Amino acid sequence: MSKLSPMMQQYLNIKAAHKDHVLFFRLGDFYEMFFDDAVNISKELELTLTGKDCGLPERAPMCGIPYHAAETYIKRLIDRGYKVAICEQTEDPAQAKGLVKRDVIRVITPGTLIEGDMLEDSKNNYIASFYVKGKAFAVCFADISTGEVYLTEQISTNLNNDMLNELSKFMPSEVLCHESFLKAKEIKDFLSNRLHAVCSFYEREGIDLSESESVVKQHFAVSGPEELGLAENGLAVLALGGLIQYLNQTQHDGAKRLSQIHFYNETQYMNIDITARRNLEITETIRTKEKRGTLLWVLDKTKTAMGKRLMRKSLEQPLINLAEITRRQNAVKELFEEDILRSDLQDQLSGVYDLERLMTRVVYGSANPRELRSLAATAGRLPAIKELTASFQCEMLKDIHEQIDLMEDIANLVDNSIVEEPPFNLKDGGYIKPGFNSDLDEYRSLCTNAKEIIKGIEESEREKTGIKGLKVKYNKVFGYYIEVTNSNLDMVPDTYIRKQTLTNCERYITQELKELETKVLTASEKILALENEIFHEVRKYIASRLDGIQRTAIAVSKLDFLCSLAFVAAQNNYVCPQIVPDGSLEIKNGRHPVVEQMLDGSVFVPNDTYLDQKDHRMAIITGPNMAGKSTYMRQVAILVIMAQIGSFVPASSAKLSIVDRIFTRVGASDDLAAGQSTFMVEMSEVAHILKHATPHSLVILDEIGRGTSTFDGMSIAKAVVEYMTNAKKLRCKTLFATHYHELTSLEDELEGVKNYNISVKKRGDDITFLRKIVPGGADDSFGIEVAKLAGIPEKVVERAKEILKELESENGVVRVIRESAPQDSQMTLMNYTSEIEEKLRQLQVDALTPLEALSLLYEWKKLI
Ligand code: ADP
Repeated sequence: MSKLSPMMQQYLNIKAAHKDHVLFFRLGDFYEMFFDDAVNISKELELTLTGKDCGLPERAPMCGIPYHAAETYIKRLIDRGYKVAICEQTEDPAQAKGLVKRDVIRVITPGTLIEGDMLEDSKNNYIASFYVKGKAFAVCFADISTGEVYLTEQISTNLNNDMLNELSKFMPSEVLCHESFLKAKEIKDFLSNRLHAVCSFYEREGIDLSESESVVKQHFAVSGPEELGLAENGLAVLALGGLIQYLNQTQHDGAKRLSQIHFYNETQYMNIDITARRNLEITETIRTKEKRGTLLWVLDKTKTAMGKRLMRKSLEQPLINLAEITRRQNAVKELFEEDILRSDLQDQLSGVYDLERLMTRVVYGSANPRELRSLAATAGRLPAIKELTASFQCEMLKDIHEQIDLMEDIANLVDNSIVEEPPFNLKDGGYIKPGFNSDLDEYRSLCTNAKEIIKGIEESEREKTGIKGLKVKYNKVFGYYIEVTNSNLDMVPDTYIRKQTLTNCERYITQELKELETKVLTASEKILALENEIFHEVRKYIASRLDGIQRTAIAVSKLDFLCSLAFVAAQNNYVCPQIVPDGSLEIKNGRHPVVEQMLDGSVFVPNDTYLDQKDHRMAIITGPNMAGKSTYMRQVAILVIMAQIGSFVPASSAKLSIVDRIFTRVGASDDLAAGQSTFMVEMSEVAHILKHATPHSLVILDEIGRGTSTFDGMSIAKAVVEYMTNAKKLRCKTLFATHYHELTSLEDELEGVKNYNISVKKRGDDITFLRKIVPGGADDSFGIEVAKLAGIPEKVVERAKEILKELESENGVVRVIRESAPQDSQMTLMNYTSEIEEKLRQLQVDALTPLEALSLLYEWKKLI
């Protein structure tokens, strides 16, 4: 170490405290990286790897990026899971004695971004922290780009499962916890493979409660956690305190922006676990992870980034409180009916910028003049929005109207102080408006009019003294001076101070000239400093208005969200669902909101649904592949979710009871990648449902028991149905699609089970999907017809029919002649259950892809 140059020693000392971070070390106009960071990051960002003399025989590997282009590089690193520590020069190099002081002013991690360009407008960006003790856990989510904090504390009998489920509700990009928690493989895998979140750790194992409490008290300026709605000595305080401490350590301005705490518990929102969220394609599609093709895609016609985030959040957290649902419904109803008003409002909303994130940048002191102009432009829309909302009758819209602060002071201040089109580069100033500050105006006019002013002085001095040949000149030694030729020296007034005598003239300065000179020469520096100072003052004033602006932001986001729901309802012919207390779901002519918009040309066939907690608890749905079973079941779940966010639903009428949890058991593609077998995943999902469903839950089972042999599978499926309908405490509403036609006999055996099938019409060999759900079980699985529709060659289809006919006519016993089998063994085969027969028995024709069916046929052909 001692051989290293002092700067390298400084670098290594700082790096030692930031081992997990890529250290961006400021050197003049560059951020430099050295040693391992340089080697790795030069590859990652395709930078040229060079070297720097460091005192050792070999040069230190080095790479760098210009500081003004840092944001794009940082974003690329963050996207790839790196954390970046920004080390700045903390004193002016010109004033520094010896080595310039440097310090890390901020660590940038996925969960601590505030830069607009690095964040997705339509999504919150959460950092989560969690704390576990015994059977209890607390999770805290914070979005430092908007200031929101959500906290929960729960007791659980299935701790890891429930906690991870809770974490997945907010999809944080960074998770903060004790390092020891990650020893559990289940947690580690979940965080990295399912949530795709980076992990960070509390500084020490076991955060101290009293320390956490004092951090929380200090941050929120309260006398105790109970003032924030948190229990004393609770785990929530630890999770929140740990998070604030982490932000204080890693961010220059700490957790400054975190202000609104929302404490929630498991009974506040509908519980949709990560599997159901994915299966129902609420915010992203299963396969492509895109928004297009999801419920969010249909419902999100919001105009502002804040509205978009609220829409997503609401879909991730449907309500279960009747009063709150009704409150939203009433607002959507009013906006639905007032379509001209709504469209005017939406027009105004489209001019509203992201107040929440702009304010974060204002508060953290990083907002630029352009961003202040965006705030002013937004403020310009508020009077119209306030006026348009004045006539609403329902409580929620009235509240919104009340909460909107017109921000006139801000609009005026910014309008008067900041130019309309501020330059991108602030280095040369030019962003403060003329007329705002008289000193600034004077400096500017000095700068631009220096020559004119000198001319003016020259003329007025000539006039005053009567010396016609008097000249004002400039040189580096004296600055501005007055030159008078020897012949006029007698006319020089006493106020002139002689500076230099030349052979044919004298040079003088005057007080006025000296003052002007100082002003002119320093004017440009002064302009920059003054512009900067004024800008800071303006920004500081706006920051002081955080509360009012934040309230306005929330009100506007709610309005945008409600307008979007009303607009979509009007566009797509939705109705307002009636919320009923009896546990039933009754939908007339329901449609799947997403599938109906994705159908190319064809018309969506609406369907009815009736489920309750008594005789219609379980609908067993049969029908061929492609009939529309899974669309139908998802449709019911999606309508329930829509209703519980306050939305209208695609149906001709709907009476819905509040659902506390939605469970789905559908495919399992992602988990296969995670190394579990299909059958294991399926069974653990079923186990989870059986353990956690309540009489108010809605369960969707799209096939169970497929991953094992037919008899095993059917037995399991049957036992599950029996258990679900018999168990006193379950009594949940279930939609169960199955290929096991045998299960339809349960309708007669069990209370609460009803059979349905999705009808198809058969004409000759061809079938037409009618997509209509009707009572009763399906009597045919139409596997061969569906295979034909899918394009299986005619020859194979014909042969399949033959085999099927044989199977049916032989009453389950197939005549199989092996080429190699001796002639006299034929007789015994009559009573012998052949290999092919057993295989056929176990085969679920419906479950096959056309290709699989074809290769099976080839395989069996070889056996005869
Ligand atoms: P299954 O689960 O029975 O195999 P799906 O629910 O996957 O069938 O439906 C297959 C396709 O049929 C869907 O992708 C959709 O395009 C179409 N479909 C389903 N239900 C309807 C409907 N009610 N009206 C029109 N088309 C439908």
